Amino acid sequence: MSDRGKRLVLINPANGYRKGYLLRRESKQAPLGLGIVASLTPPGWSVKILDENFKEFRYREADLVGITAVTASVNRAYEIAAMYRSKGIPVVLGGIHASSLPDEALRYVDSVVIGEAEGSWARLLADFDNGSLQKTYTSALSNLKNTPPARHDLFHPGYFFASIQTSRGCPMDCEFCSVPSFNGHQYRLRDPESVVDEIASVPHSLLYFVDDNIIGYNKSAEDHAVAIFEGMIRRNLKKEWFAQASLNIIEKPELLKLARKSGCRMLLIGIEAENAEALKDSNKKVNLRLGVDNYKKAFRMIHRQGITVLGAFIYGMDSDTTEALNNRTRYMITSSVDVIQASVMTPLPGTRLFEKFKKENRLLCHDFPKDWQHFHFSDVVFDPALMTPKELAESTNRAYQKICSMQTLRRKFIRTWWNTRSLRSAVWAWNSNLNYRSVGLEKPSEYKYG
Ligand code: SF4
Repeated sequence: MSDRGKRLVLINPANGYRKGYLLRRESKQAPLGLGIVASLTPPGWSVKILDENFKEFRYREADLVGITAVTASVNRAYEIAAMYRSKGIPVVLGGIHASSLPDEALRYVDSVVIGEAEGSWARLLADFDNGSLQKTYTSALSNLKNTPPARHDLFHPGYFFASIQTSRGCPMDCEFCSVPSFNGHQYRLRDPESVVDEIASVPHSLLYFVDDNIIGYNKSAEDHAVAIFEGMIRRNLKKEWFAQASLNIIEKPELLKLARKSGCRMLLIGIEAENAEALKDSNKKVNLRLGVDNYKKAFRMIHRQGITVLGAFIYGMDSDTTEALNNRTRYMITSSVDVIQASVMTPLPGTRLFEKFKKENRLLCHDFPKDWQHFHFSDVVFDPALMTPKELAESTNRAYQKICSMQTLRRKFIRTWWNTRSLRSAVWAWNSNLNYRSVGLEKPSEYKYG
């Protein structure tokens, strides 16, 4: 151990196989979970974050190492863990992948934090001090009341956006989503004043609210969002932000107005598909309730506030055929969605979809953990119901060429400007489309569906 106290090195690994959102600085996101773990670490430890979003990992001395990983980056996490373990330095892995598959993770690391760290990190550090680190640490979901703000000072200064979390959990149950199993079905809300203090403390003028739905689905979540937006306005924070929301935001015009006044420029909305059949496939209840025929009206209401719509779509629902995908692509291009995010359906471990495909013997990848690198939403890793994997991959690649063409992007820019009456919002949308263009046109790999 160093004379200067104990050294905790926290690492954010990157999937080297496909860079995705790391191709452009504007679309990189800070590893918020590591910033929270750093905040939970008591004085007496020196804490450093090594972040492969910006720089390839270089070995740094440590007494304890904590790594976070999503499924696509977990191989890299295991590689880095091996370097430390070969020197006898204990490695802890947390995050959504390890929480879903702790037994796999324990083959590569010393200890796994299952679920959220708030309830177990202090215990883990005490066990480390006593030389009795346990294999797993699990705790009940934290109520977030005592969750400290993340240590933004430890993040790489190159991030364009400050990442802020105001709530966790989602009461919905989309088949492909790992949020309910990781963060639970109950909304848990941070103290709004502490959120506003955190926003005021970051030097960034641009924010990304990482919540799965910034306005939630019930009255207390809505009041919470109102308190945060009003706090930002009252304190004249002059930040611009984007967040994920759900289509139900159109049922709350006053909230939408307040969002705009507090600096909202863009809302990422899970459209998923333009037809009800595909929505039923994935149990996307909120879109089904509002109805696909109302999408146009919904976008208009958002545009009226000068806010742009980032529409997230999926290719590869069970009812999808090549023709259905062509229709989806056409819809994305011709509808008034401002920014297009198109992903290939990906059964992440921990989701009902993963279990279903496993049971139906439809997973195309079997060499785990190596094959997890393909679970990044661009490769086809399962056997679609009404297409061959090759047809799905080819349809998707053809779609990316169209969606990401400069002609489409230029048309979208003009249309967004017209619809929102805001050049600033149109520039936001333009930049976001460039981010997705980089992801969509990233050179295809050697991977051939399993
Ligand atoms: S996709 Fe969104 S709405 Fe559906 S379960 Fe996940 S977080 Fe909730």
